[in-house]
Amino acid sequence: MEHCTHRSLAWIEKELLSLHEAGMHRRLAAREGAIGPQIELEGRTLLHFGSNDYLGLASDERVRAAAQATVDQYGWGSGASPLILGHTALHQRLADRLARFEGTEAALVFASGFAANAGTVAALVGPGDVVFTDRNNHASLLDGCRLSRADVRTYAHSDWKELERLLSRRTNHRRRLIVTDSLFSMDGDFAPLVELADLADRHDAMLLVDEAHATGVFGPCGRGLVEQLGVEARVPVRVGTISKALGGVGGFVVGSRTLVEWLVNRARPYIYSTAAPAAVAAAALAAIDIVEQEPYRRTTLLERAARLREQLAARGWDIGRSASQIVPIVLGEPQRAVALAARLREQGIFVPAIRPPSVPEGQSCLRVSLTFAHTDEALERLLTALGTPR
Ligand code: PMP
Repeated sequence: MEHCTHRSLAWIEKELLSLHEAGMHRRLAAREGAIGPQIELEGRTLLHFGSNDYLGLASDERVRAAAQATVDQYGWGSGASPLILGHTALHQRLADRLARFEGTEAALVFASGFAANAGTVAALVGPGDVVFTDRNNHASLLDGCRLSRADVRTYAHSDWKELERLLSRRTNHRRRLIVTDSLFSMDGDFAPLVELADLADRHDAMLLVDEAHATGVFGPCGRGLVEQLGVEARVPVRVGTISKALGGVGGFVVGSRTLVEWLVNRARPYIYSTAAPAAVAAAALAAIDIVEQEPYRRTTLLERAARLREQLAARGWDIGRSASQIVPIVLGEPQRAVALAARLREQGIFVPAIRPPSVPEGQSCLRVSLTFAHTDEALERLLTALGTPR
């Protein structure tokens, strides 16, 4: 017999009903099979623009083979948290490889990007400190701010002048930290990293940049926007993810040896959570080799993304300030986003509708996420199905 809602949880049904009424209810759909240009979703084959597998590595044969061989050697589970015995030789090889790839002294691999962000922010500041955060930063940075119990000052999206005013106020905080996404996950635009680095220098603040969506995609060597904008050496705390362009799962921090040693001692999601399977590290090592050896993946992707942005704008769609492979089609009210997503789905195309709290109120959108696997024909199909705004 199915269990019905316990009396003490009856309030949840009411809340869910109001989510439905506001067009804000979310539902899980189970995908079958691997991520490719098409996916199998609820019995249908759909062309999709919904993954963060930007370089098409999630199903790459070399990455799969590396994971499979490691499962044979190391088994599946890692057995414990890293400081107990979950940290394997492969995790260490990955950390060393990431440091080399990013040109830093050291790196630390977390089980997820969320854990990397939340754990690092809360390890760098605490009560008596202050953290400055962009309004559109990812939830994991925001939760890190909250967890830290430092004072939190939020500035308008990319508004470094407002940040400057906040930094100029005299306070007696002990430490200051500025945190920002480099490529904003829902807007697809860039943080003003040069200005932020200048402000951090001038106001004696630490700077943490989350490159989750830029690692492997931007910069001549694929190191992200810090490389593209020439500020690598000026950003002492850089976070990246293995879960997006690297096609796997996990997060990492790169920086000085001292920083990494501190995080090993103080980042609670690192200390108190089971290490990822060694196979995850092996797959990430294979993916980094591909990022280095096949730069055409990122250049082709970015060329196609530029074409898509141009054509959407030419047809009258509002794409905000997107300058990347993440292209929001801004629609405003959540119901409009849901309706357009449903119309596309009828035509065999999946694009996720993004609503608050993932975006601010009034900025619901379809988030078109382009990957290396999307051909020109796939883009044409999307543009045709979208038509022009009604
Ligand atoms: N940072 C940003 C900007 C993100 O968009 C995300 C997830 N989408 C994360 C961090 C968290 O990464 P992960 O999915 O690896 O937990």
